[in-house]
Amino acid sequence: MKISEYQAKTILSKYGIPVPQGNIARSQDEAVKVFHHIGRKPCVVKAQILTGGRGKGGGIKFARSEQEVQDASSQLLGSTISTSQSGMAGMEVRKLLVEEAINIDREIYLAIILDRRSESPMLIISTEGGMEIEEISAKFPEKILKERIEPLFGIHKFQIRRIAQALNIDHAMLSAFSSLLSGLFNAFSENDCLLLEINPLIITGNREFCAVDAKINIDDNALYRHEEIAKWREFEKHEELEAKASEFGFSYISLDGNIGCMVNGAGLAMATMDIIKLYGMTPANFLDVGGNATVEKVKHAFNLILSDPKVKGVLVNIFGGIMKCDTIATGITEAVSNINIDIPLVVRLEGTNKDLAKKILDDSGLEIISADGMQDAAEKIVMEVKKQ
Ligand code: GDP
Ligand code: MN
Repeated sequence: MKISEYQAKTILSKYGIPVPQGNIARSQDEAVKVFHHIGRKPCVVKAQILTGGRGKGGGIKFARSEQEVQDASSQLLGSTISTSQSGMAGMEVRKLLVEEAINIDREIYLAIILDRRSESPMLIISTEGGMEIEEISAKFPEKILKERIEPLFGIHKFQIRRIAQALNIDHAMLSAFSSLLSGLFNAFSENDCLLLEINPLIITGNREFCAVDAKINIDDNALYRHEEIAKWREFEKHEELEAKASEFGFSYISLDGNIGCMVNGAGLAMATMDIIKLYGMTPANFLDVGGNATVEKVKHAFNLILSDPKVKGVLVNIFGGIMKCDTIATGITEAVSNINIDIPLVVRLEGTNKDLAKKILDDSGLEIISADGMQDAAEKIVMEVKKQ
C-alpha cells in the first residue's frame, strides 16, 4: 500500500527524522491557515497524490505570500496531474501539503528497499538527490551505492562511516547522520515497509538535515499489524468499486470489457478471463469472493458487479471446495430475486454440493443459465451477450 507524502512524513518524524514544518490542506482557506501557522514564511504547496515525479508534472508550487498560497492551491486542488509515474490518466489532487520552504545546499538520495535477491533490507544512497532513481541509474550508475542491512542488527557503524564518506558528509554532521540512518531503518522495519525513500534529503545552509520529500510503501500482508496506517488507504474516484469491494474483503479488479466475472481464487480468475477472451469478448472486471463467502457476501458481490454500467452479462465461475456450491447458489438466487437484473447471467459451479446447487438454481424460477464446465460457460455468456 502506498501512502501519501504527508503521512510518510508523520511516520518519519516519530523516528526523529527532521521534516519541514507544515500541514495538510483540503481547501484554499485551509492552505492559507497553514501558511499563517508556519509563520508566513515562504512555503511549498505540494499535491498529495500517490505518485512520484510531481515536481516535473507541475504538482509542486512555491509561494511567498498569502495571495500566492491561494493561487497555488486553487490551481492544484481539483486538477489532474500526470507524471512520468502516474500513468496516462493522471491523478486528481484532493489534498495539499503546505510546508515551509527549505533552503537547499545539497540534495541527497536515500532509500531503504526490501531486496529480494539478498533477502534483506538494502540501503540505497546517491549524491544525486532530486532526480528520480531511474534517471540517476541511467545517467550516473556509478553514483549509486548500496549497503545490505542485517535485518536483526540494523546498520553497522562501519557502514554509516562508509556511507557518510561516499556522500561527503561533514565530520560535524556525522552524529546527526548516524541517528538519521538508525531512525530510517527503525521506521522501515517497525512499519513493515517495502520501500522508504527520501528524495531529496536536504542539507540546509545551516548544516542540518531535512527530509523534503518522503515516499513509503507498506507491505499489504502486514497491514493487519498497523491498523492506523491501514485506515489511510485511499482510492481514486474511478476506484470506488475497488474501495467497496475491499470493505467486504473481496479482491476486485476493474477492466475494460463487458463481462462481469465472479470467481474464487486468483488462478481461476485468470483462467476465466482467458477463456472469455478466447470466445471473443473481454471481461469488465473480476471479483474474487475468496474462500469463506456467506450468502450475504455473495449478495454483496453480485450487487457490486452489477453496479458497473459496463457490465452487459455476468459469468459466475466458482469451484466450491471449502466454500460450498449451494451457499453460492443461494446467494445468487437471493441477490437476483432482490434486484431487477436484465442482463444474461451464466453460472458454472463445480465441487462440493454441486448437484444441490444446480437444483437450487433450477427451482428458483429465475432466468439463470447454468453451464457445465468452463468452456460451456464462456461460450454461453458470450453468445447471450451478443444476442442482446
Ligand atoms: P517529486 O517531484 O514528486 O519527487 O516531489 P519533491 O517533493 O521531491 O519535489 C520536487 C523537487 O522540488 C525537489 O527535488 C526539490 O528540488 C524541490 N523542492 C521541494 N521542496 C522544496 C523546498 O522546500 N525547498 C526547495 N528549495 N526546493 C524544494
Ligand atoms: Mn521527490
